[in-house]
Amino acid sequence: MEQKTIGILTSGGDAPGMNAAVRAVVRTAIKKGFKVVGIERGYNGLINGELIEMDMRSVSDIIHRGGTVLYTARCKEFRELPGILKAKETCIQNNICGIVVIGGDGSFRGAADLSAQGIPCVGIPGTIDNDISCTEYTIGYDTAMNTAVEMVDKLRDTAQSHDRCSVVEVMGRHAGYIALNAGIACGATSIMVPEVKTDVEDVIKKIKISQQLGKHHYIIMVAEGIGNVEEIAKRIEAETGIESRGTVLGHVQRGGNPTVRDRVVASQMGYYAVELLEKGIGNRVIGLKDNKMVDYDIQEALKMKKPFEEDLFRIANDISF
Ligand code: ADP
Repeated sequence: MEQKTIGILTSGGDAPGMNAAVRAVVRTAIKKGFKVVGIERGYNGLINGELIEMDMRSVSDIIHRGGTVLYTARCKEFRELPGILKAKETCIQNNICGIVVIGGDGSFRGAADLSAQGIPCVGIPGTIDNDISCTEYTIGYDTAMNTAVEMVDKLRDTAQSHDRCSVVEVMGRHAGYIALNAGIACGATSIMVPEVKTDVEDVIKKIKISQQLGKHHYIIMVAEGIGNVEEIAKRIEAETGIESRGTVLGHVQRGGNPTVRDRVVASQMGYYAVELLEKGIGNRVIGLKDNKMVDYDIQEALKMKKPFEEDLFRIANDISF
């Protein structure tokens, strides 16, 4: 009988630590007696049959590298039934009995569709934004926060030298996790996140209070989607007289060597995903809860709501003057 095969793909936005997860999946599956294929460029590779056989050594020397060696992409065709059926056909032809999908909510929807067609898929949350509800942690989040902090530390040096205000936009898609945590870690005077209504006027008030308390330079941390940081900087300058600059950190936050936390969680999740597929369990997504691996039905996971870290937001506000 032909050897059972497990497929692995990365999909949607890339995140540092994805490679560590790929490595864990490949090594775990091979040890358990599976053949492993890497599927390139997300669901595109599944539709077009872009498969590469992975062995123990094919994932050597990648645990410390950002990005994804399997490439990632968005795939329109996979959103419709004909695309999903093509992907299913590739699986049947290649004896693929399970797929690990590393990505975000969109990728998990695709994984649910393919599971419904009889190809068990297990999702691993990989996104720098930490915006996946069923898990306290997503692969790439820690690295992205650390990159943001490193960059803002550099901006602070120049803001301090010139008595300036630096208004910094960090990533997060529709979530403020990076802004809040990087903000508190950078000693930001104000943090603007989508989860808490904060007007530029509130930020200006806070700056004025800090100014009266002897502060000379300011970091304002703004989550992506809140507004144009150049415009915010202009308003701050007009109303306070403090020279202000806007900076968008952008894609630099998506790259770089993954931190210890990202490598460890990615390794755990990769291992756990193969254990599920070995039991023939699909349509699941893995999460981290109270520092333990858990798994959920994909539809249930997509319906979950994640509480915002309100206590942390309050602390950040209370200690930054
Ligand atoms: P992320 O996984 O990071 O949330 P996207 O939302 O872009 O990123 O989704 C990645 C890919 O997953 C899409 O390009 C598509 O191929 C697939 N996908 C997204 N939503 C669906 C859906 N509702 N049904 C099937 N596939 C989907």
